[in-house]
Amino acid sequence: MLDILIHGGQLIDGTGAPRRLADVGIRGGTVVAVGDLQTQAAHRRIDAQGLIVAPGFIDCHTHDDLLLLEHPAAHPKLLQGVTTVVSGNCGVSLAPAAPDAPPSLLSANAPDPTGSPRRHPTMAAYMAELRAAQPAVNAAVLVGHTTLRQHAMDDLDRAANADETVRMQAALQEALDAGAIGLSTGVYYPLARAATTQELIDVAEPLRDGAGLITMHIRDEGDAIDEALREALAVGRAVNAPLVLSHHKLIGSANHGGSVRTLALVEQAARSQSVCMDCYPYVASSTMLLPARVASSTDVRITWSKVEPEAAGRSLFTMAAERGMDPTTLAAQLVPGGAIYFAMSDEDVDRILAHPLVMIGSDGLPHDPVPHPRLWGTFPRVLGHYVRQRRLLALEAAVHKMTGLTARRFGLAARGELRVGAAADVTLFDAEQVLDGATFDLPVAAPCGIRWVLVNGRIAVEEGRQADDRAGQILRRVPV
Ligand SMILES: [Zn+2]
Repeated sequence: MLDILIHGGQLIDGTGAPRRLADVGIRGGTVVAVGDLQTQAAHRRIDAQGLIVAPGFIDCHTHDDLLLLEHPAAHPKLLQGVTTVVSGNCGVSLAPAAPDAPPSLLSANAPDPTGSPRRHPTMAAYMAELRAAQPAVNAAVLVGHTTLRQHAMDDLDRAANADETVRMQAALQEALDAGAIGLSTGVYYPLARAATTQELIDVAEPLRDGAGLITMHIRDEGDAIDEALREALAVGRAVNAPLVLSHHKLIGSANHGGSVRTLALVEQAARSQSVCMDCYPYVASSTMLLPARVASSTDVRITWSKVEPEAAGRSLFTMAAERGMDPTTLAAQLVPGGAIYFAMSDEDVDRILAHPLVMIGSDGLPHDPVPHPRLWGTFPRVLGHYVRQRRLLALEAAVHKMTGLTARRFGLAARGELRVGAAADVTLFDAEQVLDGATFDLPVAAPCGIRWVLVNGRIAVEEGRQADDRAGQILRRVPV
């Protein structure tokens, strides 16, 4: 007797193979049969006629560390068909943080300026709280290099010394032992900018020979992107660890079209080291409000501002015009804050999205009052806008970038493919209707066309509505 039988759907198995008519049988959280199963008995039958049956999507680039503790139902993710998130990206994780540590960067935009009261001195302590929170999605956790710096150094405006490096290595090792899958870095950002290439290599030593992977928000995504890519590739090579280049993009009109060159550079490196990229399907990025970023953007939207909370959702350029001010000067007055920057080209986004080494990651910022729509829209947007409406890539290829490719690259065993023996993470969607609902004007909106989502064999979304069951697990990395 099966627990659940999904019957009559078109199976896209996550490997990139063409769709085929096949039923999926589930028992005890595992896929136990795939094929013609119409005659099999099951406690629950899900009619998938007219729907695509795919592995649950893996959001490989998130900042959901705190979301999973405070809002374990994880609505923005589950309603998109996402069943696994990789948290702790861009150098920032919740652990390790001593009880007297400054508020995490993840909660810097919380309405209460003291930020989250949660402090986890070790990754093991964070993992224990995550487990207790019972999130609705699976989580694979990275430890952030910037967080390690805050933990081990008293002055972040220089490179780490030998003692500090040893403390960071020990904290990284503790995190790996506790179940973290690797290290993330964000030397683009002020708190990590002073780190040298050698510091990154030294801190990453516990990852050697694939003991963990490294994801990198590179030092520059504009004029100096080639040099920044070479630095990241050198770090991955030096410790022989799989490398993921985060949210690959080219910023500023002078650099538009440069993806021909940057993708060739990464392809060349991929012949001799493990490297891949992730990307979100929008021409606008989002991060802290950085006045230096304003000039290279055609528009800037404020996502939050401590000085002027009512600016959230407004165009910085419109506000500057109203006040007869220069936008960069106004931005400097609104910090600390967050913003959306329109600074990429469609041509680059298309080329990067379609590239075989690129996975889908939302980079959604779940605590922004008026967030970038990627938080709620990334996966349905790829399937609806880029696959169905624009025909940029085949549906099977797009699903592969959200599932099988990601699971392989991140070492998430038994995830990302629908076959006998796989974990029963499953997303059923209507390929003719799936589409993002979130826009830059109305960024908090559920997508349409995502019908059923199963996490570890339990129903998490039923007929488009989120169920109460929360069956997420913490996933460890199994090197392949
Ligand atoms: Zn980043």
